[in-house]
Formats: sequence, structure tokens, C-alpha cells
Amino acid sequence: MAHYPAEPFRIKVTEPIRLISREERKQAMEKAGYNLFMLAAEDVFIDLLTDSGTGAMSQSQWAAMMQGDESYAGARSYYRLAETMKQIFGFEYFVPTHQGRAAETILTDLLIKPGMSIPSNMHFDTTDGNIRARGGRPVNLVIDEAFNPKSRHPFKGNMDLDKLRNFILQVGKESIPFGAMTITNNAGGGQPVSLENIKAVSELYHEFGILFFIDCCRYAENSYFIKLREPGCAQKSTLEIAREIFKLADGAWMSAKKDGMVNMGGFLAMRDANLYQRVCNALILREGFPTYGGLSGRDLDALAVGLMEGLDETYLEYRLGQTAYLGERLIEAGIPIIEPPGGHAIYLDAGSLLPHIPHNEYPGQALAAELYLEGGIRGVEIGSVMFAYPNPDTGEITYPRLELVRLALPRRVYTQSHLDYVVETIIRLANRRNTLRGFRITYAPELLRHFTCRFEAL
Ligand SMILES: *Cc1c(COP(=O)(O)O)cnc(C)c1O
Repeated sequence: MAHYPAEPFRIKVTEPIRLISREERKQAMEKAGYNLFMLAAEDVFIDLLTDSGTGAMSQSQWAAMMQGDESYAGARSYYRLAETMKQIFGFEYFVPTHQGRAAETILTDLLIKPGMSIPSNMHFDTTDGNIRARGGRPVNLVIDEAFNPKSRHPFKGNMDLDKLRNFILQVGKESIPFGAMTITNNAGGGQPVSLENIKAVSELYHEFGILFFIDCCRYAENSYFIKLREPGCAQKSTLEIAREIFKLADGAWMSAKKDGMVNMGGFLAMRDANLYQRVCNALILREGFPTYGGLSGRDLDALAVGLMEGLDETYLEYRLGQTAYLGERLIEAGIPIIEPPGGHAIYLDAGSLLPHIPHNEYPGQALAAELYLEGGIRGVEIGSVMFAYPNPDTGEITYPRLELVRLALPRRVYTQSHLDYVVETIIRLANRRNTLRGFRITYAPELLRHFTCRFEAL
């Protein structure tokens, strides 16, 4: 039986939510063009669209916000954040950004020329979109186990080292301005990467003189997975593991809206002084002065505290335990998900659940839409709506290998009864899976279309 860990906190402030009627949900979906991003949050009962910026801050974070120094340059808040950054990440330089994609925009804009390639285990949507927007090619080289939803490999986010070496030899190191790695692997099930694999990837990139950057949104969850699963790591603290990880890299970017435990924020960090200078210049054009980077002083203080709270092992045990509970209950009910449960989310395997809906009719979208209509639950499609792109050489559409619906858990927000409601709703849906139909896209922009496209039910 799935076990639910008791929350290591109690509730001091509440926020009302309500389930509107089925008829109202139907109207809301029609108005939204069946795109869940287009729904008003007020019309959603349990919102599992994303864990990004949707968490609850602690009393210590709210208290720290009162200390926010709103000076334009050199604010005290900046120096407090810089101290935390030094303790955890240890990079020589960093700039705050308003969120992860702002860091991505600056990095990709400075380093990528058209036709260049950026290998990673798997890029997430905004990284993928930012690379394409500069004329670059995002390349995913995760191990094959990642594509087998039933494989219980402990580190399904690992890079395939043979694929990476062959890829570098094939395109040449000159066309790889930097190599990346996403921890945990969000697009591939929130699966962790092992310390051993990060070490090997770092050595490989460096053997060819390629800069190594980590997309570290969920580095704390990844570090705790390493502590639990990797031989020789049980005695280390999560903070020690995190430090070991970042020692191996030349830089990192983070959406602090994840393991930074804040509602808005991010950073770009690096070792190279020249690159830092160029980053600062780009930042001033786009985000703001390098000591605030698009954030308020109070946001910097919330982040300085939040980064440390995100590494707390009592919290992480609860966090991963809550996600595992949702996953194990679904497995017990025979619902196909990506196994084992990842860190921040459960990924329903819509491709297996709805084999009668082909890739080009978007099985993930069909499942996500029905989940809302059935129970007011909002998840997100991670499949052909998000990641089907024409091949730049042939023009042929390449479909992703998995059609998923991600149910992301906001941090410190929902309780066991909310998750039980989600499980029961999914079981009801699965019992009438044959009645679900696919979708057709009626409007889509060229990049990152999932945010704004519109659908028509088939
Ligand atoms: C959220 C996320 C991003 C983008 O961050 P934003 O703060 O949403 O701009 C990039 N990479 C990964 C792995 C993410 O999860």
C-alpha cells in the first residue's frame, strides 16, 4: 500500500479553491480553445499545471521579505543571496534573472550561432525553444531506459555517454558552443541523474574543450535522489552532494521557481570572467542591473532563504514521498505512468492509456482535457503538442517517443486528500478510456506552441 508521509509543517494561511459544475467546466474549456494554459485559475479545482512558482513560501521567507533592500545597485539583499549562492553552487560569478528562461535567452544569445548544436540529456520546452530561436539545434541524448516507462532504472535521467561521444565526433566540437544537462530531467519524467554520470559527462565535454552548463531547476531533488540511490552517497548531506555536482560544471542556470522555493526568480552562474562581463551587458539591456536582474530586493531575500529550505532533508523526504504516494496509488490501480515516480511530478503515459489515438491527434491533450472536464484537475501535455517539430533538414515532423500528461506538485501546497481526489478522478476516467477522442490544432505559433495554440475536438 502506498504510504503518505506526514507534512513537516502545518498550515497558517489558507487560500480557497472550488470545483465549478461540469457544465461550467465545459464552457470554460470551449472558451479556452481546449488549451489548459488558457483557463482562468479560478475555474480550476486542483492545479497541477506546473510546480513552477506555485509553491507556498515559509514563515522564514515571508519574514526575510521584510528585510528586502530595494536599492537599485548593490542592495544588501543581493549580498545575502550571493552568500547563499557561494555556499551551495560555488561559481565565481552569477547574475539574478526574473526566471529561468531569461537566463537561457542570455546564454543562448551570447553563445549560439545558427546551425550550432546543444547536446543535453533532454532539454525542457523553454530551453528547446530558446535554442531554436537562435537557429541552433537542441539534441537529446538521454539513455534508452528513459523511453521505457516500465524500466525502474534508478537514474533514468542519465546521459548516454556513447551517444554523446559519437555526437561530438560527428558534428565536431566547433559547432558545440556549450553542452548541457538537465537535473532532474523534467521532459523525461522528472528522473534524476547520478553523480557518476554527471562526472563522466563533465569529463567528456572537457576532453573536447566544450563548456558544461547545468540546467539545475531541481538540483535539490536530484541531490536527494543521489543520497538515497547512489552507492557511497548515503552518508553525505544533500548540500555536500550539490556542491560536488556544481564543482564539475563551468556554469549553471536555474529557474528558482522550482527548488528555490520562490514564486519568481532565477539566475545564470559561471566561472569565466569574460563571459560574465558579456552576460552583465546583455542583462542590463534585458533584465536590469546585475545586482537585481529583474527582481525586487525582497525577492532576492526570499530566494536566499528558499534555496537553503529547498535542501532541507526533512522537507525533501516529504517532497519525494508525496510524489511517490501519488505515483504508487496510480500504479496500484493499473494506470500506466512513468516509473519509478520522479521528483516533482507524476507523468501519465497517455500513449499507453489511449492506444486508439495516434500521435497526430494528440493523446496527451485528449487525456489532459478530459481530466479537467471530469474533475477540474489541470495537468499539462508533454508530448506531440509540446515537442513535435519539423526536422530542419527534411521538413518531416519528428514526434517525441512518449505521449505524456504531467501532474506537477506545487511545493508545500496540496494535502493527501487532494491527491486521493486526483487518483479517484483518474481511475474513473481510465474506466471509460475508449470514449476519449483526439484533437486537431486550429491555431499555433511557430515556437513553444503549447502555451497559446487552440484545439478542436475530433
Ligand atoms: C521551468 C524550467 C525552465 C524554465 O524556467 P522558467 O522559470 O519557467 O522560465 C527551464 N528548464 C527546466 C528543466 C525547467 O523545469
